[in-house]
Amino acid sequence: MKIYAIMGEMANYSNSRVSTYDNCPYQYKLKYVDKVEAPTPTTIEMFLGDIVHRVMEKLYKDLQYQKTNTKEELLAFYQDLWKKEYSEDILIVKKEYSAENYKKMGEKFISDYYETYHPFDDVNIIGLETKDKLLLPDGNYWSVRIDKLGVDAENNYYVCDYKTNSRMIFQEQADADRQLAMYSVWVRDKFKDAKKIFLKWHMLAFNKEVISERTDEQLEQLQQDVVAKIKEIEQATADNKFPCNIDGLCNYCVYREICPSFSHLVQLEEKPPQEYKDDDGLKMVDEYAYLAKSIAELDKKKEELRQALIEYARQKKIDNVFGTSDKVSIKEEEKIVMPEDREVFIKILKDNGLYEKFSQLSYSAINSAYKNKKLPPELAEKLRTDQTIRFTLSQRKKSREE
Ligand code: SF4
Repeated sequence: MKIYAIMGEMANYSNSRVSTYDNCPYQYKLKYVDKVEAPTPTTIEMFLGDIVHRVMEKLYKDLQYQKTNTKEELLAFYQDLWKKEYSEDILIVKKEYSAENYKKMGEKFISDYYETYHPFDDVNIIGLETKDKLLLPDGNYWSVRIDKLGVDAENNYYVCDYKTNSRMIFQEQADADRQLAMYSVWVRDKFKDAKKIFLKWHMLAFNKEVISERTDEQLEQLQQDVVAKIKEIEQATADNKFPCNIDGLCNYCVYREICPSFSHLVQLEEKPPQEYKDDDGLKMVDEYAYLAKSIAELDKKKEELRQALIEYARQKKIDNVFGTSDKVSIKEEEKIVMPEDREVFIKILKDNGLYEKFSQLSYSAINSAYKNKKLPPELAEKLRTDQTIRFTLSQRKKSREE
């Protein structure tokens, strides 16, 4: 097993690295611990975002050299880049749109931005595509990459990010965002004259900007949260504990082929029809599912029969019903019903010194507290873990006709 970051060894973290762990620890393991290279298709959205970012970089870089591009020049640069770099293997997931539609979107982003911000003198640019590392309080590093860093006449700094996605960022999301907020920690560190630091998202698809600002206390808390998260990742790495987190993002995961939760499905989908039907795993699951459904139906039938027999015995005023070789005994007995007000009941138990005798430990509560590291250490160290199998049958989305 390869270990990328062991406890005590300093590593370089980034927002995307930590987000990968948050989305799926197993994907994190494959990408950052095992460093499995997987072919990552370039989607049209990625391609468009990259080209637009490069146009914005050119716009501001040229301005630093006192060259102001006209809107037409900038669009010509964009079209030229698109023409040179677009290739047929770029993935368009939304089949109802063509590459030409996306290209026109980019032209509109640039055109709208140009008209809104011309002559681009709201801030002095002090960094474009700035790359650096922020030293975290635990000695690890955090990657900094700022699309555009500007400062105004009052020494207010602006950490700007261009977004080309067609989903608007709302204020609450911006105020909770980790990426730009961490960059503002870096700005605060590097530029001691900074009066205020604003985080600004240029939502190019909407020709709008979303601005957020953090207090020093919030930034301190953010750093502590990041350090705690890194500690959690390092612990997972040391324990080699990286569970799969199955959700909608799995459909776009580049590791499906080697992910234990999807590799069988990928193999099945690649098989010709006969081999698909003969797959041992597929046959066993089908048989297991058939049996499980049959048992559920039989259980339902059994319960209906049980109720019918109880009714039969009541009507006949008998407590034994005979079959050919078996009999059913039906005895009505009293059973206690726990009071609704548990608090009062527990208090009475305690007052009478009976609580210890009648209460019992909750295995599931202890198990969950242990897993979530919520038990005090002296309690946790009294427990040991054993391997168990969680076996669940559920329906899968059919991806091909069987
Ligand atoms: S397919 Fe899903 S569960 Fe598997 S590694 Fe990728 S994101 Fe994680």
